[in-house]
Amino acid sequence: MPSPIAHGLVGLTVHVLASRDREELRDPWRIGVTVGAALVPDVDLLFRFVDGANHHNNETHSIGFAMLAAVTAAVAFRLVRWRRPVVLALALGLAWAGHVLLDLLNLDTHPPIGVMALWPISDGYFKSPVLLFLDIGRTLDWTAVRHNTVSAAWECVVLVPVLLVAWRYRMRQLGRSQWREGSRASP
Ligand SMILES: [Zn+2]
Repeated sequence: MPSPIAHGLVGLTVHVLASRDREELRDPWRIGVTVGAALVPDVDLLFRFVDGANHHNNETHSIGFAMLAAVTAAVAFRLVRWRRPVVLALALGLAWAGHVLLDLLNLDTHPPIGVMALWPISDGYFKSPVLLFLDIGRTLDWTAVRHNTVSAAWECVVLVPVLLVAWRYRMRQLGRSQWREGSRASP
């Protein structure tokens, strides 16, 4: 699995692209929801403490679960009257699906290899033939710490530029819309 840094960067990128104005861009709740959705599929690592079995990379790592989460969130956001609930729910679903995509693209050394990406249509495990990210060790010895530092640095090399491009695009869009509002307001 990639590190939480990689998943967080994908969540932030989705948040930037889904924000309509500066208020949404700075809203800690919207940031929390989207970045949280990019991280939360790995909660299945904790299910081991319930029954002792490994549940990692199963149902929570699927497009089906991402869609289910988005639909549930849309209802919840509408009930609590959040601004643009459907867009926020779509951002949540996209960030969740982004987690699945990243896990498809990383080196996996813990069986079962791959993720249950197409659940509930298929309960097979899928893995991209082309791998972009390294694995993350789950122990705390120095070898694993060194390896994880290199893996996380590589994730930043790949994903920070994507976030910066999204940020630049959003800033340009916001600049244009503010200019339009300004020219409308001027006599
Ligand atoms: Zn994962």
